Amino acid sequence: MRERRRWTVRDLRRDNRSVLLSSLFFEQLRSRQELSEATGLSPASVSNVVRELIHEGIVVEAGSVDSDGGRPRVLLQINPDYGYVIGVDVGEIRVRVELFDLTMTERAKVDYPLDPRQHDVGVIVEAILAGLTAVLASSGVSPSAVLGVGVGIPGIVENGPGGLVHGQCYGWDSVPVERLLRSGTSLPLHVDNGAKTMGQAELWFGAGRGAQNAVVCLIGSGVGASIIAHGSTQLGSVSSACEWGHTTVVVGGRACRCGARGCLEAYVGAEAILERYGSPLPTTGQESALTALIDLAATSARAAEVLDETAMYLGVSIGNLINMFNPERIIIGGWAGLLLGERLLPAIREAAREHSLHYPFGQTSIELGRLGPNAVALGAATLPVEALLSGTRFAATKSDRPAS
Ligand SMILES: [Zn+2]
Repeated sequence: MRERRRWTVRDLRRDNRSVLLSSLFFEQLRSRQELSEATGLSPASVSNVVRELIHEGIVVEAGSVDSDGGRPRVLLQINPDYGYVIGVDVGEIRVRVELFDLTMTERAKVDYPLDPRQHDVGVIVEAILAGLTAVLASSGVSPSAVLGVGVGIPGIVENGPGGLVHGQCYGWDSVPVERLLRSGTSLPLHVDNGAKTMGQAELWFGAGRGAQNAVVCLIGSGVGASIIAHGSTQLGSVSSACEWGHTTVVVGGRACRCGARGCLEAYVGAEAILERYGSPLPTTGQESALTALIDLAATSARAAEVLDETAMYLGVSIGNLINMFNPERIIIGGWAGLLLGERLLPAIREAAREHSLHYPFGQTSIELGRLGPNAVALGAATLPVEALLSGTRFAATKSDRPAS
């Protein structure tokens, strides 16, 4: 790793700025004194940096509270309208584009349904670009006020120049998604794996809040996961994805879309669950079909059996995560994970207990995500926020470079 260059006064100021902005972003309303106590920065440093932030318009005063006998304390908050961020969830059954203000309040949203068997990259790029135009139009936000666009995408996203995506299940072989999007937008882009963006959303705002070590499992049509270690989402050598969905649960088992056999995704992804059930359901579309299957389990032995098996495969694989990572929390999310979890969580926990070592299991809680099925788009929108909070948005990043 490259050694960090010598610290300068400017670095210190930038880091103080990052610490204070992050504190205000996550805790929302704070007085200068509370900021000083929470961050350990001196009152003078807080005052100096806050003055700069107010001057720039990124922080605003938001009323005051009485203090014990002294002068009322002025509360500060991030200015919701300082800038806007857009999150894109490229799922398997839809592309969702959402625009948020800086308090992460949704200002506009648009969905484009996808045929689960058709993931041509051109169709997806077109849907994302149409979505960007649509949310800007319906919110009335100017493109110049957008701080960045985060795109959560299935597959392995290479860290490095080009942002190549390897989506083996869709025949995407080194697809330059960022470059393709660049042909239709000049907004700053941040492309990452969808399971990782969901993990960041749950870590920042949901069931992962405060966790130092956790695994966030994304179960939709396919299956992925995001590893959180020491309070932040983890990167591999070239990719941020944890390809949990393609770990083997049955040697020589069902064929998986990746080309291998017996992968977890080939048993517990929504598409695979419906295939394993095999009989027609009184509805079409994966979300309504999975809901119908879950409802049917009350009266159909076959439907109940398929769900019991699903809980077993999921629990076994979560037991593997517990043995390997010793997380304090396992969070199950994704639209299918949340639907399944409502009914199957006790059985999943029991299977995980039976298939992991007692000690690490005893240190782990297994919970459902708290942000609902839209957490991928929210998490994607945190990517430009992360750049703003860390100060890297003000440096030249790969995402901000124009296409060559
Ligand atoms: Zn596979």
